[in-house]
This record gives sequence, C-alpha cells and structure tokens, in this order.
Amino acid sequence: AATEADVIVVGAGGAGMTAAIEAANAGKSVIVIEKAAMTGGNTTRSTGGMNAANTPEQDKNEFTEGAGVEKMLASAKESYPDLADLVATVEAQWEEYQANPTGYFDTEELFMLDTLVGGKNLNDHALVEVLANEAKNGIEWLKTVDADLSQVGSFGGASVKRIHKPVNDEGKTVAVGSYLVPKLTKAAEGKGIQFVMETAATELVVTDGKVTGVKAGETTYTGKAVVLATGGFAANTEMVLQYKPDYEGFVCTNAPGMTGDGIVMAQAIGADTVDMEQIQIHPTVSQETSALITEGLRGDGAILVNSEGKRFFDEVGTRDAVSAAEVAQPGGFAWLIVDNKMVEASSVIAGYIKQGLTVEGADVEALAAAMGVDGAALVETMDKWNACVEAGKDEEFGRTSFANKLDEGPYYAIKVAPGVHHTMGGLKINPNTEVLDASGNAIAGLYAAGEVTGGVHGANRLGGNAVADIIVFGRIAGQQAAAYAE
Ligand code: ADP
Repeated sequence: AATEADVIVVGAGGAGMTAAIEAANAGKSVIVIEKAAMTGGNTTRSTGGMNAANTPEQDKNEFTEGAGVEKMLASAKESYPDLADLVATVEAQWEEYQANPTGYFDTEELFMLDTLVGGKNLNDHALVEVLANEAKNGIEWLKTVDADLSQVGSFGGASVKRIHKPVNDEGKTVAVGSYLVPKLTKAAEGKGIQFVMETAATELVVTDGKVTGVKAGETTYTGKAVVLATGGFAANTEMVLQYKPDYEGFVCTNAPGMTGDGIVMAQAIGADTVDMEQIQIHPTVSQETSALITEGLRGDGAILVNSEGKRFFDEVGTRDAVSAAEVAQPGGFAWLIVDNKMVEASSVIAGYIKQGLTVEGADVEALAAAMGVDGAALVETMDKWNACVEAGKDEEFGRTSFANKLDEGPYYAIKVAPGVHHTMGGLKINPNTEVLDASGNAIAGLYAAGEVTGGVHGANRLGGNAVADIIVFGRIAGQQAAAYAE
C-alpha cells in the first residue's frame, strides 16, 4: 500500500471522509488514516440531523412558530447587546416576511443568531458565519454522495424548524450518523481514496516549517498537506477532568477513540487551542448503557418529568440549561415520555424499545406504575401538557415548540440523566480551516475540521450543528488542502 499521497487525512469520521472526498474531487490523491477498525467515529452515533437555513426542504413546512423567532430576538437583545446589528437584520427580515409570507421563514442570519446565543456568544463569529451560510450548500452537496436529508424538524435551541433528517422508504425518521457514514465511505472508496485502518497517527512531520506528513508508529505517511479530523476528547476522562473537574463520575456518550489525539499532536508542533474547558453534557443519556437518547424526541413532542411525575423545564432549551435543570431534580435524573403516535413515526424510538431502554404502560396510570412515580401526579402532568399543546402555549416553563398531544397508548418512558457528550473546544482554525499557532499565523500545510477544532460552537453546541460543522468545514478543509497541494 502507498504511504505517499497529495493529501493525508487523519480520522475517518464525518469530517475526515468529507474532506477526503472533496480533495479527491479536486483531483488529488488521498490517504485516510483511521485508528478504529471501522469508519465513522462519533459521527456514526449521531442521531439527530443537520442544521441548515434557507433550504427548499424547509419550505415544505407551513410556518407556525413565529413565537420561537420573537423569543430569540428578545433574549438576544436582553443578553447580548453586542449582537445588536445581527438582531436588527433578523428583525427586519422577520417583519418583511410577516408582511409578505412566502415559503418557510428562516435566514442564514437567524441561524447565526441562534448558534451564537446558544453558544453564549463565546463562538468565533467568522466561523459561525461560514457555518450558517454554507450549510444549505452542504445539504445539496450531500446529494452527490447519495444522501438526502429531506425531513425538517424542531431541535433544541433553534428558533425555527431547521434540522434536516433522513427518512427511510416508509417515511420514518432514521438516525443521521448511521445513515451518512456508509454513504460517505462508499463515495470515498469509489473515488479511489485509500483507507489505512486500525492505524493511529502519533505525530506530525514538519519539514522547513511545513507539515509534510504524519507518523503512525514506525510508518511515515508523506503528503503535501495534512487534514486533522480526529474528533474530540470526550472519551479521554483524564483530559476532560483536567479542564472540567466537576464532571467526575459522569458517563460518556462517545466512541472510545475520541481521545483528543489530533489536538495533542498539533499542540506539539505549536498549534493554538481555544475553549478547551467548554465541554458539553447532554441531558438525555441512558445511564446503564451510556446511550444517547436523541434530542429529536423532544423536538417531536416528548416531555421530561421528574421522579415526582412533574415537568420541570422547557424541554427544548439548550443542552446545558436542560442538563442543569435535570441535575437539580430529586435523584438528578428525569423520565422522557413519548406516546404510541411518536413511536409509529420514528424507527429511532423502536430501536430504543428493542434495546430495552424503555418502560411502558397501556395508559398513563400504567406507565406511572412502571416508572415508579405517583399515578395521579403523572395523569395531571399529561393532561396539563396536552392542554399546553392545544393552546400552543406553555405558561409554566415557556416552551414555544409544540408537536402533537401525547394522548395515544401505549406510552413509553426512558430514564435519562446527563452524560459528557461533546467537546466544543479544540484546535484554533480560521475560516479556511488552516490551523493557527499562538501568534495567529497559519501553520503551513495543516488543516483541521470537525470536533477536533474549537470556536464554532462557543460555550454550548446546538443539536444539529455537529453534522453541519463536519460537512461544511470538512468540505472546506478538503478543498483548501487540495489547493495547497497544487
Ligand atoms: P468528526 O465528527 O469531527 O468527524 P468523529 O468522531 O466522527 O469526528 O471521527 C473522528 C475519527 O478519528 C474517529 O473515527 C477516530 O477513531 C479517528 N481517530 C482519532 N484519533 C486518531 C488517530 N490518532 N489516528 C487515526 N484516527 C484517529
């Protein structure tokens, strides 16, 4: 097998394979080095979908959630005065739309605003702008690898329906990661990209100040440019606790290979990092199996109740806020509740039932018994919630996104608590995905994309923005590395 190519990509997750495909599309030879036996990394585990604004797919929805837009504008105004220009732009767009509503309302600027407010405005604005502008092109690009994210839904922290999800032949939602990974792998193989599996890169090779390859143990892979796409470090407990000692004892949703190798390798040659202490916990993780229960369930109408059978928070709030609310409940956990209608619309929930993650009951009282919570309390909570759905208003917790009532048995509940999920921080890059050193200069020949990088998500990543990140910045990294390798 060859050990020399124009572009060397480290990591065969979503970002790495996307970069490899784009470099090959630009006519370059590519080698991908992957530590695991299979491609996909954490991307395989991604259940939700991909955020993109201003897409034809969104226009298939009727516009109903103006409340989400107005809530976002109000909260941005109150909390982030320095986003005033962006707020004014979105306000003008929203007014214009209301005067003349055509299609579905979403704009790249609103996507930016949601991402910045969700990230507590710690994000790198230039990177967020690229994300918001390019995601729609990413949705189109995915069609070239036979991937169609045609169904649009609500997700935490997004003020309109923006997450794009795949559906199967029966029209049921399927998990995005296990849908995308085989398609990206097949497309990459079809382009003659060479995969070197079960091989961990250990060191970057620098010649005359330029990155010219990667060492994996004894073997050196030589290239004109290197793309780091090794994912985050959530599975590296020591590294997590170094930056976030309060996460001692938390379970982790990641594949075991997510140990921050790319960050460490790049730091060794002078790369800068950003926001390393911004480590996300996800509010709906099964503690027994560390399996992540998708946020899409809440977007599609599920609620969270505590051990007393009571709701306690806006379920579609940002991950950090929902996690904190959960930790504050008795026992530090919650139950996620769905009804039979939701089960019938989603193969994802059927999977959870099959894995034994649910308890069930033919009616609400029976469900309460299975959960070990007070039956009368749960009945009252469900009645109250269904009245909220009918009214389109949640006075108590301010939720603004509603789907269908939860009123058809059997009912199912999944016991959840927070788990370490995503590392927002990582290598510092510019909008061309060049890795920067401590003086802000690009390190020649070194590019990075995906969870190995920091800055896109600030202090909190929105669901649906990881897939947007890997596709948008994976493509740019592949294109830029190819251009550099000319
Ligand atoms: P992203 O979502 O950013 O694409 P993923 O977690 O999906 O990230 O993929 C990262 C991939 O990188 C995983 O498949 C992981 O096994 C691989 N990886 C991590 N460290 C190394 C390494 N040192 N050498 C090669 N591959 C690595």
